[in-house]
Amino acid sequence: MEFCPDCGAMLMPSNGKVKCRCGYEKSLTNDDIEEQYHMEGEKNPEMKVIVTDKNNVALPTTTITCYKCGGTKGYWWTVQTRSADEAPTNFIRCANCGNTWRSSN
Ligand SMILES: [Zn+2]
Ligand SMILES: [Zn+2]
Repeated sequence: MEFCPDCGAMLMPSNGKVKCRCGYEKSLTNDDIEEQYHMEGEKNPEMKVIVTDKNNVALPTTTITCYKCGGTKGYWWTVQTRSADEAPTNFIRCANCGNTWRSSN
């Protein structure tokens, strides 16, 4: 990714050049082009949110203290809220009684 030295805007690659809306343009070398290509690939990995059926998937286990039954083994999973701005929410389920709650962290 390159930025315009004149106005600081993001430069858009186009036909072997990068162009800015202010009129600045620069020819790309093959190295530049390759760099752009690699960065694209790294910036856009296939982000797959794992949506689990919470009832029949082997969830990772953790040590808990269930406030209902006092059980110490629990399952946990993460739910990404619809807004990507918000942190994912962790849920914990007691393996003993099925009590489910949000993790405080
Ligand atoms: Zn510019
Ligand atoms: Zn419990």
